[in-house]
Amino acid sequence: MTATRVLVLNSGSSSVKYQLLDMSDGSRLATGLVERIGEQSSRLKHTPLATGESREWNGAIADHEAALKAVAEELAKDGLGLDSPELAAIGHRVVHGGKSFTEPTVIDERVLAEIERLIPVAPLHNPANLTGIRTAQGLRPDLPQVAVFDTAFHTTMPEAAARYAIDVRTADEHRVRRYGFHGTSHAYVSRATAKLLGRAPEDVNVIVLHLGNGASASAVRGGKCVDTSMGLTPLEGLVMGTRSGDMDPAVIFHLARVGGMSIDEIDTLLNKRSGLIGLCGDNDMREIRRRIDEGDEEAQLAFDIYIHRLKKYIGAYYAVLGRVDAVAFTAGVGENAAPVREAAVAGLEALGLAVDGGLNAVRADEPRLISPAHARVAVAVVPTDEELEIATQTYALVGR
Ligand code: AMP
Repeated sequence: MTATRVLVLNSGSSSVKYQLLDMSDGSRLATGLVERIGEQSSRLKHTPLATGESREWNGAIADHEAALKAVAEELAKDGLGLDSPELAAIGHRVVHGGKSFTEPTVIDERVLAEIERLIPVAPLHNPANLTGIRTAQGLRPDLPQVAVFDTAFHTTMPEAAARYAIDVRTADEHRVRRYGFHGTSHAYVSRATAKLLGRAPEDVNVIVLHLGNGASASAVRGGKCVDTSMGLTPLEGLVMGTRSGDMDPAVIFHLARVGGMSIDEIDTLLNKRSGLIGLCGDNDMREIRRRIDEGDEEAQLAFDIYIHRLKKYIGAYYAVLGRVDAVAFTAGVGENAAPVREAAVAGLEALGLAVDGGLNAVRADEPRLISPAHARVAVAVVPTDEELEIATQTYALVGR
């Protein structure tokens, strides 16, 4: 029997998201989520795609090992158990691969040690990713496990884009440089956009706008990333749901010296209480649009700041690329919020950018063009699929 199934695991500090895919046709067999691991009120939601009927389990799940065992039990109930000979590999989303990992990598002790060495630059994510990997290895020690890094797609950035203009020795000593994140999504969407245009990725320059709760832009030339808006951490760049994105770094000194805030307090402020939620109290674009429709000025200003930053990045990446074939919107906001797409390219006709109001209003799950016919630059909505991309990359490495 050919093993064609891949389990994709995305392990966070208190959650595990998972999908089981069949790579003979890329179809999904099951999806699910374990939340609030380590609390009394943990929750497991599991959906086998054969029936589409979700099952929920509420109770205490002590740690990642218990969480994965519970997931394995749910999968087994649907005849999709982890002991199945049809399972080819487990693919793990790993947030930070630093400069070392430019490709998806089969996990061995050396790889684990390197992911661990990168914890100082990803203190929230890499430890959780490591726990997920070790737990999965414990359940199926014989099975190949593959790490797919959020940073890998961005390792092609030239030094001119990847370096901060700070003292080189200090930067190198502490590995301070721009790594970028959401790479799996940027890779997938830039390729899917080329496909939508009926062209090879090598022939196409794309600006990808991944606008979810976290948000990042990337400039992709001929299939390779040449710049991206997130940096050492996911804090840099666009205005996000709860993160500030770009600002004068001296704001931090000011808040510490004049505001008397600690570094940890400022960290929380900029990562959790800034962006849209800091500006207007809501980070959900649906709610913000609803408030704007009711004449709420605070929500309007938050929206305007969000769009202003987005537009600046479109202009910047236009300049970085020189020639742009497409601008692709993706993720929760990018795929669903027509007013964001319309406002982001409004006034950019001189750059060949425009959206057609009718096409922009259409809701669909498929990649689609929203620019007017014969536009110089295609504007597209391209739903991202990070799990499929992780599974594809994993299977390409281990598929038999
Ligand atoms: P993501 O991080 O990609 O899951 O995106 C989550 C965000 O997408 C939410 O916080 C919302 O702001 C946004 N979102 C999801 N659905 C819609 C929608 N129908 N209209 C506008 N924004 C949406």
